[in-house]
Amino acid sequence: MKSCYLCGKPLASKADRTKDHVPPECIFPSEKPPNLLTLPCCRDCNSKYGKLDERMRNYLAILAATASGDAGDKARREVLRSPRGVADFLQHTRPHPTLTDPKGEPRHLFFFNDDELRDWLCRIVKGLYFAKAGERLSDATQYSVRKHPEVTPQSSLSFPMEDGLQFRPHFTYGRVPDVREVVWFLIFYDALMFSVAVQPPEEATQPNNSLEPTSTAGEKGDSNGH
Ligand SMILES: [Zn+2]
Repeated sequence: MKSCYLCGKPLASKADRTKDHVPPECIFPSEKPPNLLTLPCCRDCNSKYGKLDERMRNYLAILAATASGDAGDKARREVLRSPRGVADFLQHTRPHPTLTDPKGEPRHLFFFNDDELRDWLCRIVKGLYFAKAGERLSDATQYSVRKHPEVTPQSSLSFPMEDGLQFRPHFTYGRVPDVREVVWFLIFYDALMFSVAVQPPEEATQPNNSLEPTSTAGEKGDSNGH
């Protein structure tokens, strides 16, 4: 039986079974790529992200300025036509503590809600992983999310990716295995780059597990998580 790629709940009843697109469909302009990932999802998880998907699309597409093309036009229209949208956008805009404009005034920059951004980006990584591995990342996985303003704007064409690149220029991803973790790079509209470092639970524990001698190192690879 299929289970939800986010919470792992078995999708027993037809009423609870739905599909989620990764990356979310709404980040694309009207023409959607035919090869979007379609993942099994329960209704609860699916409904959690609808509004957030649109809001994140608005933030990212507006911040990407001209790079987001049609998606940016749509996002600007959507935000500007609603007083709530404008208020929400302004709520995220604050003077930067150190950066100043040419007149010496603090520069106003957009700040994401970190929890929201983290939840949203991790959900995309969970989907990409599920599609690749055919199973969920463990619930004990640790994620560490970073924004990379230092490399903005960054063309996905110039970025060395192990795989991915199917949805250029609206969404690009790559997976870079490191010693202890796998780092997923997510680039939106060739302009905004984030990374999500995914640390498996066995690595996430303290490295000096002094309770048990580790002389049987050969068995380590056989652990099947019981
Ligand atoms: Zn679910």
